[in-house]
Amino acid sequence: MSNLFPVYQRWEIQPAEANGSTIIDKNGKVYLDFTSGIGVCNLGHRPKAVEAAVKEQLGNFWHVSNLFEQSGQEKAASLLCEYAGMDRAYFANSGAEANEAAIKLARKATGKTKIITFLNSFHGRTFAAMSATGQEKIKHGYGPMLETFVYVPFNDIDAVKKSADGETAAVMLEMVQGEGGIHIADKAFVSELASFCKEKGILLIIDEIQTGIGRTAKPFAYMHFDIQPDIITSAKGLGSGLPIGAMLGKEHLADAFGPGSHGSTFGGNPIAIAAASATLAAVMNDGFGTELEQLSESFKAVLLDRLADISGVKDIRIFGMMAGIEMATEANSVLQELREKGLIALPAGTHVIRLLPPLTCTLDQIEKAAGIIAETLRASASVHS
Ligand SMILES: *Cc1c(COP(=O)(O)O)cnc(C)c1O
Repeated sequence: MSNLFPVYQRWEIQPAEANGSTIIDKNGKVYLDFTSGIGVCNLGHRPKAVEAAVKEQLGNFWHVSNLFEQSGQEKAASLLCEYAGMDRAYFANSGAEANEAAIKLARKATGKTKIITFLNSFHGRTFAAMSATGQEKIKHGYGPMLETFVYVPFNDIDAVKKSADGETAAVMLEMVQGEGGIHIADKAFVSELASFCKEKGILLIIDEIQTGIGRTAKPFAYMHFDIQPDIITSAKGLGSGLPIGAMLGKEHLADAFGPGSHGSTFGGNPIAIAAASATLAAVMNDGFGTELEQLSESFKAVLLDRLADISGVKDIRIFGMMAGIEMATEANSVLQELREKGLIALPAGTHVIRLLPPLTCTLDQIEKAAGIIAETLRASASVHS
């Protein structure tokens, strides 16, 4: 019997070691990891520069509390704000906590309470983040949610306009709904949404927890659209595997988060901060961005070329290094077959295979993964027809 609460449905693999784009299990079997630990290990497993920065900080101090000014936090905030096009950072320990901070800040800064979010969205598992999430299955059994969230269909500007009123503090959205099945925001919708929010004095919050830190081949996904969000949230890839989240805001919001208004014992932990600064230094390197753009183009071309004509594949949605392969059948049994063949991929919703490979993977690894998926889907299509 396990002493863990069984909140996770586990796979059959027990990792022993991980390196770059691969995981080796306790039997020595090598897997290609196209999950990046669910969008976390964007630089692959154990990137050398991050490992070195963490080891160095382990030799200085591990924790001193946020009563001290810490040069590490200042440096990480400065790198992150530059990379993200924002002015102020608050460090938390997870994505849900970053979204909590965003929700609290939006309410405090505007003095209003209503927040519009989208059906099929995912914003995390704490009470406010869960309340913000537009999926019933996440909320089941937990009783009344925070009442001030309103959910509208994704990419539907008229629904946003109809739901907004004088009590609306913010609109919060993902540029690509990750957990919800890789659904990409429309350009026209996003630009109309941004001008509507500006005109009405409604804050625009972009949840970049899965889409940030290079995942969409730009630093943050909002940069594919011609908009300026008031708040963005980051986590997953920010610490290359160490737990850290951040809520970033524009300067006009700084006064609403004054001393004593918010905080966290571990927020901005020195070890996690060292990992974040080293991660940011790596992704902010000019060469990294150029190579990533090329890799993401190959990723798209290879997947479309190998998978588009397979019967049973209903749709393929790709944005940067995020891919959703929507199938006629459920994803779980296919995912298990992929693991047997040495490829680890994710579900998103029930019918979508989601790929979030390391941004440092090779074209050979992409071709290998696409080959395994094609072979598996062709076999399963012939069984089902
Ligand atoms: C993963 C995720 C979260 C929650 O992050 P946690 O670190 O698990 O709390 C929130 N929003 C989005 C878009 C995510 O992908």
